[in-house]
Amino acid sequence: QLYNQVQDLKGTIRVYCRVRPFLRGQSNGQSTVDYIGENGNIMIANPLKNGKEARKVFSFNKVFGTNVTQDQIYADTQPLVRSVLDGYNVCIFAYGQTGSGKTYTMSGPDLTSEQTWGVNYRALRDLFQISKTRGDVIKYEVGVQMPVYLKFYKLSAKFLSRGVDFTLTIRTLDIRNNSQLNGLNVPDASWIPVSSTQDVLDLMRIGQRNRAVGATALNERSSRSHSVLTVHVYGKELVSGSILKGCLHLVDLAGSERVDKSEAVGERLKEAQHINKSLSALGDVISALAQKSPHVPYRNSKLTQILQDSLGGHAKTLMFVHINPELNSIWETISTLKFAERVS
Ligand code: ADP
Ligand code: MG
Repeated sequence: QLYNQVQDLKGTIRVYCRVRPFLRGQSNGQSTVDYIGENGNIMIANPLKNGKEARKVFSFNKVFGTNVTQDQIYADTQPLVRSVLDGYNVCIFAYGQTGSGKTYTMSGPDLTSEQTWGVNYRALRDLFQISKTRGDVIKYEVGVQMPVYLKFYKLSAKFLSRGVDFTLTIRTLDIRNNSQLNGLNVPDASWIPVSSTQDVLDLMRIGQRNRAVGATALNERSSRSHSVLTVHVYGKELVSGSILKGCLHLVDLAGSERVDKSEAVGERLKEAQHINKSLSALGDVISALAQKSPHVPYRNSKLTQILQDSLGGHAKTLMFVHINPELNSIWETISTLKFAERVS
């Protein structure tokens, strides 16, 4: 039954749009989301523009409105996650401007409450649970790659795993070395076997603490880096002895907003340009895959190089695009939706 569920997702690129609610303290007055229709349509109203073009409809696989819970989001993500245990490679991305809810979708607002857990932890919990229930047939091993923040800095972490306290150092991923590019040949130092969701939570906390955070004019907590959590699954069929390998990349992308040259200078400007370049390279890759183009430009960014094995081929991709309904975000909202339309 599980298998049937995932069949129809094979080889597809799906795009889900999620609208963040107004936050406390924000004016509830004017939402730029005019309506959310059935069948994945969303209409955006742009009062800053007069005439015919003020309203525009965008179409995706699904659109989730402001009242949709983390539970409901995961329900529509679960079949994809579960297919990893059948040997598929899966990428799940969160795209959107800073403050639009990417981290909320992927991690959740608060790690301590399972109810608000995002896709990451629910996915891990699911993988552990199902691998246990299939234990009579297939013996699974699950491991995560320490969250790699593609900002390229040295990271030292100390954590407790199964009672063993050890220190781990992750070097900058040297992506010129091909052996590190293949999703399954991860650098030894960053490969960590895990046996429970708690193990992963511990790792994520460490990763988050280490994540480079730059204060921008838009949001102090804005993180100007992509965060990639990679989960590898190895399964051995007990009777036949055959091996299956699956891989899940959970990617919380850096904010997609254009950075105003007047606000960012020096390192920050360079960083912003780098981010915009890698996001458009990702868009190019996914849109080439969506159009079944013979040439897929993986090599244009580090992000797409690292994910190459899990984008295209038999891999499955899900992109959550996030928008916030505030009027002053209208231009970023439109640019986000245009990006999303291009990749779907
Ligand atoms: P991003 O990662 O895109 O910068 P965040 O996930 O940090 O954005 O969200 C910005 C703020 O909005 C946070 O305070 C977050 O808790 C809140 N938020 C985002 N999405 C939702 C949602 N669906 N429901 C309630 N609050 C949300
Ligand atoms: Mg975030």
